Amino acid sequence: MTEQPAFVVVGASLAGLRAVEAARKAGYAGRLVLVGAEHHLPYDRPPLSKAFLELGDPPPVPHHRTGEQLRELDVELRLASAATGLDTSAREVVLADGKRLRYAQLVIATGAQPRRLPGEQLPGVHTLRTVDDARAIRSAMDAGCRTVVVGGGFIGSEVASAARKRDLSVTVLEAAPMPLVRAVGEQMAPACAALHARHGTELRCGVAVAALEGDGHVERVVLTDGQVLAADLVVVGIGADPTTGWLQDSGLELDDGIVCDATLRAAEGVYAAGDVARWTNPQFDQVMRLEHWTSAAEQGAAAARNALDPGNATPYSTVPYFWSDWYTDKLQMVGITAADEVHVVGDLDGERWVALYRRGDALVGALALNLPGRIMKYRAMIGRRTAWSDAMSFAAA
Ligand code: FAD
Repeated sequence: MTEQPAFVVVGASLAGLRAVEAARKAGYAGRLVLVGAEHHLPYDRPPLSKAFLELGDPPPVPHHRTGEQLRELDVELRLASAATGLDTSAREVVLADGKRLRYAQLVIATGAQPRRLPGEQLPGVHTLRTVDDARAIRSAMDAGCRTVVVGGGFIGSEVASAARKRDLSVTVLEAAPMPLVRAVGEQMAPACAALHARHGTELRCGVAVAALEGDGHVERVVLTDGQVLAADLVVVGIGADPTTGWLQDSGLELDDGIVCDATLRAAEGVYAAGDVARWTNPQFDQVMRLEHWTSAAEQGAAAARNALDPGNATPYSTVPYFWSDWYTDKLQMVGITAADEVHVVGDLDGERWVALYRRGDALVGALALNLPGRIMKYRAMIGRRTAWSDAMSFAAA
């Protein structure tokens, strides 16, 4: 008997989970399949570079839902089962074991995977994306390692923070003259980078790794200028690429992610969500691919709703938001950084400040240190396309 086509979600993490939950919430009562390459139930990634690395008992896997909760949703879970191909004419997903899953609607939420350095297979060298990566980094820290972080982005900076909280020595290597320029803009990147020095992390910019060396385990990082750093743990945080390799022959348009329209639609019956999706964000009329928790969750739900009711599909519009916890501080960014002017309110050497980004005569972005309540107000203001003068009055008040 031929299998009934199902609502299929590929990628069993945040966006995928939110997709299956939204499908049920929208009243979909048919067969719902969640396919995931990892053997874990969907779990949360942000704690992996934060609480998960702290001293104390090893924390449990930060699952989003229990197996019981997923059974109640009547989700058919296919874990440890990677999708290897997509045939959009037959409307089938091909799995690693050669089996084919027929879909009526498909949401692709395969996220992103870390970029790697040559020599990374050496024990002691890690990237940080999965709970298994986090466990390996945690045990190296438990053993009291000398840590070198390659890449001064958010994940690398959080790993450095975790190492310093344990009083371990840590050096962050950044190839660019300043880290985080793309994420927070040229003007504010130095203020973020300064947090490292305040907490005893050495940040070296404009340096590149020539080799990771050691006899059976990493022992040193060799830089292109000949300098050598001793290391027992190297964490490579040089960015991530969308996981689209399995879609190469699918006919979907791939360009640093799955290219979607504003409703997250990639092809007939096929939608994408989360870190893997590139779509036009109507809020800024700009093509974006975000690697942020909040948009992954929202897009998962939006993609599922649109897949179930394509005739009434609604665009997914958002003011991007992410946070990052460094040492004792919380950095939060809303909106975009492409701006004509950045205005800082507060003392950049102090405990709290906010930077406001102006484009034309509108507020388009805000970056805050330790102002969690206030940043959400700026997010709402950006969403309403608040005039710069009104934003300045609000900031002054
Ligand atoms: P992912 O979480 O990457 O999940 C994709 C899933 O798809 C994975 O489980 C993968 O195994 C699976 N998959 C891939 N290919 C296949 C295939 N072919 N077949 C089947 N399954 C497949 N964001 C913030 O805003 N703030 C933070 O503080 C923050 N901290 C972070 C810390 C870490 C360590 C990491 C890694 C990310 C952090 N993020 C943070 C980003 C946030 O976690 C991601 O944006 C979010 O996880 C994206 O969810 P996703 O479901 O799109 O993709």
